[in-house]
Amino acid sequence: MNTETLKLKKKNGHKLNGFSHEDIGDDHLYAGLKTPLRKDAFVMSDSEKKEKIELLFEEIMNVMGLDLNDDSLKGTPKRVAKMYIDEIFSGLNPLNKPKIALFDNKYKYNQMLIEKNITFYSNCEHHFVPIIGKAHVAYMSSGKVIGLSKLNRIVQYYAKRPQVQERLTNQIAEELKSLLNTDDVAVVIDAKHLCVSSRGIKDETSATVTTFYGGRFNTAQKINELQNYINQ
Ligand SMILES: [Zn+2]
Repeated sequence: MNTETLKLKKKNGHKLNGFSHEDIGDDHLYAGLKTPLRKDAFVMSDSEKKEKIELLFEEIMNVMGLDLNDDSLKGTPKRVAKMYIDEIFSGLNPLNKPKIALFDNKYKYNQMLIEKNITFYSNCEHHFVPIIGKAHVAYMSSGKVIGLSKLNRIVQYYAKRPQVQERLTNQIAEELKSLLNTDDVAVVIDAKHLCVSSRGIKDETSATVTTFYGGRFNTAQKINELQNYINQ
């Protein structure tokens, strides 16, 4: 490819359904259920990744003209690297997936169980700024039950990735479906995207709601019932 075509390609972006990659990021369009990871995503160890990110983040700060000799800034690249790998993006690594034990449904409880108001912090994959929200997850047992705190852990695991809210919703739902061996799961997420409130359109009051109603949840009556419990 010669330089001219390359320049043109950069200018126009690769078009997907008539949208450029920049449009897709700005409009938060969503392209699939799986987090787009390369095959070699985990060839490097966590400590190698941290060393590399530290250097690269230092470079970003340098480019912006920040004085890294300043006591307050000196440790920032290392802190950011550690935070990315060990905390806010730790859900990328399958090794960090919570180990979940299931139990027999001894009480024969077969109505919906809802774990509501699970606070989570994620990051928008288009801008790398926070998404802060509440997740409400529900299921009806097909014979097995799950510890309540584990529902919380599943939400946190998928939240700790660069995310898109629709994908987060579906990833949590799919995980619950396969763990609990049932389609009867529901996920409702109500979240604020800092890329919408603090930049771009700067709307401070809007929130985004996404839902997944599977199996027996997918009826007007059950959706209504679930919404009532969530709103209580
Ligand atoms: Zn964003």
